[in-house]
Amino acid sequence: MADLQPTVLVVEDEPAQLEVLAYNLEGEGFRVVRTQNGSEALLLVEEEAPDLVLLDWMLPGTSGIEICRQIKTNPAHRLTPVIMLSARSEEVDKVRGLETGADDYVVKPYSLVELLARVRAQLRRSRAAALGERLSFDDIVLDSETHKVFRKGHELKLGPTEFRLLTTFLEKPGRVWSREQLLDRVWGRDIYVDTRTVDVHIGRLRKALMRDGGEDPIRTVRGAGYALG
Ligand code: CA
Repeated sequence: MADLQPTVLVVEDEPAQLEVLAYNLEGEGFRVVRTQNGSEALLLVEEEAPDLVLLDWMLPGTSGIEICRQIKTNPAHRLTPVIMLSARSEEVDKVRGLETGADDYVVKPYSLVELLARVRAQLRRSRAAALGERLSFDDIVLDSETHKVFRKGHELKLGPTEFRLLTTFLEKPGRVWSREQLLDRVWGRDIYVDTRTVDVHIGRLRKALMRDGGEDPIRTVRGAGYALG
């Protein structure tokens, strides 16, 4: 999420254009993941959770529009900015008309300076939005606006206490929280709750998070408390 080096996924079937884009993005300090293939693009979105996707509209196989639609309807990735690259301005009009949810559109041939400026603008915007609405760690995503939690893109059912516990963990992944600190944060200072109650709710949270399999993301730190990751 807040990587110092944001990951940009570039999906472009023309090798020369792909190279130029990757070269220039890397020159700007981005980590670049690339593919010429539409269906591989969707796999890479899952595996790499890129901070931004640069997506060619005309691709063999799965079209850019279909890829964009799938990214934007996946709760785990819908906030990932997508910039569509189109060969002609009529295509851009069409993309707009189709309401794929793309965040920006650039017509080929584009100016690299302008394209890079748009990439940076989208990243700034999504960072700000993510801070407000979405917390994530690994394959877990919590949307604080809709109060929904997802793991690997599947929605999980959490009770209100488990939801607040997970929010606390997601705010500082890796930090070890003592039971007392969790009581203060999740239940509030003025309420008397036995520290064992924390263990009970941690158990429920773990169960919910591992409902569809996957590793236990919550670490028990002996004598200290709990941590995410
Ligand atoms: Ca193309």
